[in-house]
Amino acid sequence: MADELKKEYFPKQSQVEPGLQSQMTPIPEDGSASYTGHGRLENSKAIITGGDSGIGRSVAIAYAREGADIVLNYLPEEESDAQEVKRVIESSGRKIKLIPGDLKDESFNQKLVEEATAFLGSLDILVLVAGRQQAQTEISKLTTDQLIDTYTTNVFSLIWLVKAALPYMNPGSSIITTNSIQASQPSSFLVDYAGTKAAIKNMTVSLSKQLAPKGIRVNSVAPGPIWTPLQVSGGQLQENIPNFGSETLAGRAGQPAELAGVYVFLASKDASYITGESLNVNGGEDN
Ligand code: NAD
Ligand code: MG
Repeated sequence: MADELKKEYFPKQSQVEPGLQSQMTPIPEDGSASYTGHGRLENSKAIITGGDSGIGRSVAIAYAREGADIVLNYLPEEESDAQEVKRVIESSGRKIKLIPGDLKDESFNQKLVEEATAFLGSLDILVLVAGRQQAQTEISKLTTDQLIDTYTTNVFSLIWLVKAALPYMNPGSSIITTNSIQASQPSSFLVDYAGTKAAIKNMTVSLSKQLAPKGIRVNSVAPGPIWTPLQVSGGQLQENIPNFGSETLAGRAGQPAELAGVYVFLASKDASYITGESLNVNGGEDN
């Protein structure tokens, strides 16, 4: 698929956060037309946050095609995107349950894991993809509400979900977080967001050390510029949208489908000797 992807000039477009994939032009590639499974996650049970759209949606579709049963979390406003993922996954012959809810609410994180494990029967893979990004060029306009929302969604919920999920996770299971190239190359207009992504990368290492004795691996994925709803619902400055991703060695933005393979790999037995790592998928932007 990647060979067919050309540099794209995206039309300027804006949605209210969190945005819908179905309303984007062009619609991001989620892998539903291209991903072929090879039984690498046969009968695994996975919770995926942010699974309605963008990167999380591609991960969900790929996991189902690799043989996993899935619980998806997303925000209630994203129900239509989530229903589309459910249709694709059910047509792959796997089980999926949709559990909408706000990860900023600590008690919801516990409820999500309880409902998910009741449905799945066990839990092998916890994939934390949900995140928020709102561009703000002036620190004087960076409100306390924005700071709290960004840190609560991206950082606090990571701890709350891992705490809730651990009692259900056995040796051999795995946790995958999502950081960003912003963790190491922060943009001037993403002061709060970039900080959360650096925190996630760092926390992934701490957790890998703490959970290794339990046989649980903890890794992270660091995407570069990927064409998703987050970018067009306040995450990116409007003037950057037409050439979004063109600064990479690939010369273009990535599609969500191009991230799925790395999340499959990190969850699979192929990655049994990998923990505490962050894998870059960024078109060579960091070189
Ligand atoms: P996306 O908008 O498709 O996904 C983000 C998802 O986060 C939303 O679909 C939503 O369901 C979820 N979310 C946000 N706030 C939430 C809350 N309070 N409660 C529950 N769910 C909530 O965009 P995406 O780009 O696929 O983002 C996925 C992850 O990838 C994010 O963590 C983002 O920071 C990271 N990332 C994206 C890029 C990029 O260029 N798109 C680059 C680096 C990292
Ligand atoms: Mg979404």
